[in-house]
Amino acid sequence: MTHAIQVRNPGGYDVLEWVEVDDPVAGPGHVVVDVHAAGVNFIDTYHRSGLYELPLPFGVGSEGSGTVTEIGDGIDNLAIGDRIAWVGAPGSYATRLSVPASAAMPVPQEMTLSHAAATPLQGMTAHYLTTSTYPLGDGDRCLIHAAAGGTGRLMVQMAKLRGAEVVASVGTDEKAELARSAGADHVINYSTTDLVEGVENAVGKNAIDVVYDGVGAATFDAGLELLAPRGTMATFGNASGPVPAITPLTLMPKSLFLTRPKLGDYIATTEARDERWNEITGWARNGLLEVRVGHTFPLADAGEAHRALESRSTTGKILLTV
Ligand code: NDP
Repeated sequence: MTHAIQVRNPGGYDVLEWVEVDDPVAGPGHVVVDVHAAGVNFIDTYHRSGLYELPLPFGVGSEGSGTVTEIGDGIDNLAIGDRIAWVGAPGSYATRLSVPASAAMPVPQEMTLSHAAATPLQGMTAHYLTTSTYPLGDGDRCLIHAAAGGTGRLMVQMAKLRGAEVVASVGTDEKAELARSAGADHVINYSTTDLVEGVENAVGKNAIDVVYDGVGAATFDAGLELLAPRGTMATFGNASGPVPAITPLTLMPKSLFLTRPKLGDYIATTEARDERWNEITGWARNGLLEVRVGHTFPLADAGEAHRALESRSTTGKILLTV
C-alpha cells in the first residue's frame, strides 16, 4: 500500500492530505523506490499556498532518498537495491515513488540516507549561488540571510571554503550560534538589531560584494543599501514574501547587478548536476561540510513541518520520514 501527501486546493497547512494512492510502476526511464525520507523545502510551501501554481491535484515535494525496488526500460546505470537521492521528482512526500532516473544521484557509502535526503536541493542551491551566480573567491565579502536555515547554513560553509568573508543575518540568538559554528565572521540578529546598522557596524558602509537573499520582501531594500558599487544582489527566495517590482533606475546609483536565479537552470544538464553533487558529497565525506538535520517529522504530519518552517522556528534541514 502506498501513501502520499496531496493537495486538492491550495491553502493553509490543512490542505496537506495524507491519502492512499496507486502503487507506482517503473515506466520507461524511471525507477520505483521505497522512500526513506523526503526533504521539506520552502518551495513546497509556495506550491501548497498557490504562490507558485501547479496543476491540481498534485503530490507535494520534489526531494528525497530511498532504495530502488524496480527498474524501468532503458536504464543501465541503476540496479535494484541501490541507494539513491533525488531532486526533481514531483510528489516526493510519499512512501513509494516513481523517480525519473535523470533525477537520481548515487548516495556514497559513508552517507546515511537521512543526510542524503537533506542534501540535494539546499546543497546544490548553496553550491550554485556561491560558485556560479556570484563565484566567491579570496577577499570577497558576502551577506547571507537566514544563515541558520537549511540553505543558509550550507551557504555560509561553502562561502568559507571559497575564502570569502561572511556576514550572516539570523532571527534569534540560538540561530546566531549556529551561523557562527558554520564559520560566519560576523553575525547580526536582525530581530534585535537594525539590519543595515548591524552590518555597517561590522564591516562599514557600501562594503558588501554580494547579497544572497532567500528572505525576500523583508530584507531586499536593506541589501541594496549595503552593497558596494558594482555589487550583486542575488535574490533567490520569498520566505518573508515576494520582492515587489522595482525599476532598473534603482540600480543606477551604485551600478548594481540584480539576478533572480533558480536551481533548475544551474543543474540543467546531468554533467552540471553531477559535478555539484560530487563536490558536495566529497566535502561532506572529508568533514568539510556539515549537513545539519534540525527536525524530523513523520510523513503523515507534513502540515506540522510546514507550520514549523513558515513560523521561523526551524534551523537546518527538515525531513519527513516514512
Ligand atoms: P530556511 O530553512 O532558510 O527557513 C526559512 C528562514 O527564513 C527562516 O528560518 C527564517 O530565518 C527566515 N525568514 C525570515 N523572515 C521569514 C518569514 N516572514 N517567514 C518565514 N521565514 C522567514 O528555508 P530553506 O532553506 O528551505 O529556503 C530558504 C530560502 O531559499 C527560501 O526563500 C526558498 O524559497 C529559497 N530557495 C530558493 C532556491 C532557488 O534556487 N531559487 C532553492 C532553494 C531555496 P531567520 O529567523 O533567521 O530570519
